[in-house]
Amino acid sequence: MFSFKLPLHYKIIIGMLIGSISGLLLQFFGVSQSTISTILLWVKPVGDIFLRFIFMMVIPLLLGALINGISEIDDLKKLGSIGLKTLYYTIVVSMISVFIGITMVIIFKPGADLSATDRSMLIEKFQDKVSTVTSNMELVKNKNIGDIISQIVPKNPLEDMVRAFDSSYSGGGILAVMFFGLMLGIALNGLDPIKAKPVKDFFESLFEVSMRLINMAMQLAPYGVAALLFSLTSSMGFSIIFLLLKYFSVCFTALCIHQFGTFSLILKYIAKVSPRLFFKNIQEVMLTAFSTSSSNATLPTALRVVNEKLSIPKPIANFVLTIGSTANQNGTALYEGVTVLFLAQCFGVDLSIGQQFYVMIICILAGIGTAGVPGGSLPVIAIILTTIGVPAAAIGIIIGVDRLLDMCRTVLNVTGDIVAAQVVARWESASVLGKNSVL
Ligand code: ASP
Repeated sequence: MFSFKLPLHYKIIIGMLIGSISGLLLQFFGVSQSTISTILLWVKPVGDIFLRFIFMMVIPLLLGALINGISEIDDLKKLGSIGLKTLYYTIVVSMISVFIGITMVIIFKPGADLSATDRSMLIEKFQDKVSTVTSNMELVKNKNIGDIISQIVPKNPLEDMVRAFDSSYSGGGILAVMFFGLMLGIALNGLDPIKAKPVKDFFESLFEVSMRLINMAMQLAPYGVAALLFSLTSSMGFSIIFLLLKYFSVCFTALCIHQFGTFSLILKYIAKVSPRLFFKNIQEVMLTAFSTSSSNATLPTALRVVNEKLSIPKPIANFVLTIGSTANQNGTALYEGVTVLFLAQCFGVDLSIGQQFYVMIICILAGIGTAGVPGGSLPVIAIILTTIGVPAAAIGIIIGVDRLLDMCRTVLNVTGDIVAAQVVARWESASVLGKNSVL
């Protein structure tokens, strides 16, 4: 019997096409606004359910991933300097990646051309009251750098978790939740292992169950994406398509610059290996990352290929790749920066240099805290948006092209882990005469 099981990413692309084309056709044939509104009454909830399912998992997923990741730093003690070097590498290279992304958005301004009508339509579409946007903008503008820094330490972490999606909340929000997770992870590491075990096990399990739930949510993606794209194109027509194309091109170009520019330079001048040979050797890993959109799902392939084809000592490869699959996500950090600034441009939220810097820092941290699963970035972006005065539901604008970009950014995330392992190995002077060494 012929059985045909289409991979999820194809289903999402099909959903994307069906949703956007049918919406555009309604526009093309001049269907009246009242008929479109009636259709939307039924279609919109499908998209909303998908979005809400993802939002539902934000806090558990972030806390689970972060605390779980930090408890793995237990290995830091065993591997000593390797851990610190990995951490240092992750922070510096994530910073470079977010910088590339943010600079591209500032130069090309993909969201700034949105006409006033389309923008107000978007504001109406994604927000209950336009006034909330304006008051939030004021709220963000009125925050000085001192407030932002002190609010990173939560007075009451539960309040920051509960109000993480409340755009009128002026506390630390997600950053405070991350700080809480960071401190909890560090404290757990210093504790007597027997006493720490129940809490560590709880967060490990919380992470696993959250990932499973995100996977379940992603099964709804083809329908959710179709509905979201239909809601957009049926009321906005072609302008949104051009907007998305511009956004996609900026994001994709920035990802390529980091993948083939930054990584090649790092490989050649710091790791001292041939970039051409390196990329040739890890082709299989890049393809797996592209088709699964998940760093975690690519980890087994990455470990196998690196151990087989690159001369990185096994303990270094295993340690750096495992921690990196959650904590070193250059593609994700870059993507989150680009998307947040793009949506801010779409909504006419003008960010000061200080706020752009804030977005950069939060994206570097978010790259560390984002789960290595398909769509892991979406909840994080939703939260960052609320902190800068853009409604969280605005991610509905980019969700249609998210899967394609997810495939690309995951390639970067996984490549970044292997480059990190290569660099750390070099720093540890262990891979000087590796198989693909240029020396
Ligand atoms: N899918 C990405 C990964 O697994 C995470 C993300 O959504 O950015 O690496």
